[in-house]
Amino acid sequence: MFKKVLIANRGEIALRVIRACRELGVRTVAVYSEADRNSLHVRMADEAMCIGPGPNKDSYLNIPNLITAALLTKADAIHPGYGNLSEVASFAENCEICKIAYIGPPAATMGKVQDKAVVKSLMKDAGVPVIPPATQSPLTNESEAKKLAARIGYPVVVKAAAGGGGRGIRLAYNDEELASALPVAQSEAEAGFGSGELYIEKYIEEPRHVEFQILADRQRNTVHLGERECSIQTSRHQKLVEESPCAALTPGKRGQMAEAAIKAAKALGYSNAGTVEFLLEKSGKFYFLEINARIQVEHTITEAVTGLDIVKEQLRIASGEKLQFGQKDIHVHGHAIECRITAEDPENGFLPNAGTVTDYVPPGGPGIRVDSHLYCGYKIPPFYDSLLAKLIAWGRDRKEAIARMKRALAEYRIEGVKTTIPFHLKVMDNTFFRRGEVYTNFIRRRLDLEV
Ligand code: ADP
Ligand code: ADP
Ligand code: MG
Repeated sequence: MFKKVLIANRGEIALRVIRACRELGVRTVAVYSEADRNSLHVRMADEAMCIGPGPNKDSYLNIPNLITAALLTKADAIHPGYGNLSEVASFAENCEICKIAYIGPPAATMGKVQDKAVVKSLMKDAGVPVIPPATQSPLTNESEAKKLAARIGYPVVVKAAAGGGGRGIRLAYNDEELASALPVAQSEAEAGFGSGELYIEKYIEEPRHVEFQILADRQRNTVHLGERECSIQTSRHQKLVEESPCAALTPGKRGQMAEAAIKAAKALGYSNAGTVEFLLEKSGKFYFLEINARIQVEHTITEAVTGLDIVKEQLRIASGEKLQFGQKDIHVHGHAIECRITAEDPENGFLPNAGTVTDYVPPGGPGIRVDSHLYCGYKIPPFYDSLLAKLIAWGRDRKEAIARMKRALAEYRIEGVKTTIPFHLKVMDNTFFRRGEVYTNFIRRRLDLEV
């Protein structure tokens, strides 16, 4: 096992990794921007080092500063968290060059999954179902895009090959919409990912987003930890509520999708924790969407139903240990739901707001977990993601999990900043949600909200 791990991230995920390290007896190094000096992860880690000014590009995305911090503090491994540099193959590569272990898949695997169009064609070759067209070269002009759209049929989505976090995705129902979607997606892709490369695929109507958690050790033992239903998303594809298991899966369908997920991981020579995302159609047909080669925000609900600690497994795998269990040892018990509580105003189009937390009382009691970096007096910096807390409720069944979530949401007190707690209470009370009828356009269709 490692002696000291540097966490190249901030917020709740930095705390999550510190907690896993501490349970394993591993020392921790927090890094922070000038805007994060008073953050909880800085206080909780064994050591802390400033890596630059507030804006992400100057600190949490600054590879030379992060590597230097690891070398100066003699950390023998780096955990990237999610977002930031967690999907950047060159960061993993730089760690490898500097003989610092990267807690994630090998850089070569990350390189393969970085480009969504490339990984899609690899998946097709491996026999994993993909959204049509199965392969295509990068789009270079509008007329070519229109030809392709005519061939696969409208509606289509235009996507950034390097996309992530829901950005660089645009829907088009006809040639006209396609013509206006292309430049928008391209500029969003260039700004967000430094590459304007686009591709097109068929738009799947009213699908569910269902993903499988994978763990694979360096000896290529690969298991899945069941699925997560992540269909409750904003129109900009930000996940807001996740649950495990997915209410729509029969054991047969779950088996087929799990098999496809394992096949996908094996075809890539995957190791460490990863997520294979699928879209599931009403007909029961499912399609590979992408692989997230990192810890996922919503890994917590899988932990709740399996009893495993995925972050500790990440550390064990990265340090070369073999998985201590096989597929037959993994059992899903009960039901778990996660609500992502963000500093956004649901009464005002989910407008992000910064501010100071003037009162803070998190919920507790049976079946409740709160992963958050908030405390009373915390000043939310304006530079980062709006996620404030992840509230996770576990119950013996879905009904109990929902009841606990409602109870915990009502207990949760965050003052001084507008949060999405009222929105989550609405979801928990929604008739369709309670019946398990969710799809990616749930918020617009069932809550009549445009977010
Ligand atoms: P998850 O399924 O883990 O929630 P998301 O795609 O929502 O995955 O991303 C997790 C976090 O990382 C979000 O805060 C999102 O804004 C951010 N993120 C994801 N991908 C990227 C990326 N390529 N560049 C910048 N931020 C990203
Ligand atoms: P990101 O890397 O930003 O997470 P994904 O490719 O995983 O992007 O897609 C994010 C979300 O966008 C999906 O969960 C789904 O709601 C929607 N989406 C993506 N591709 C399609 C598609 N072909 N048809 C319908 N919805 C899609
Ligand atoms: Mg995705």
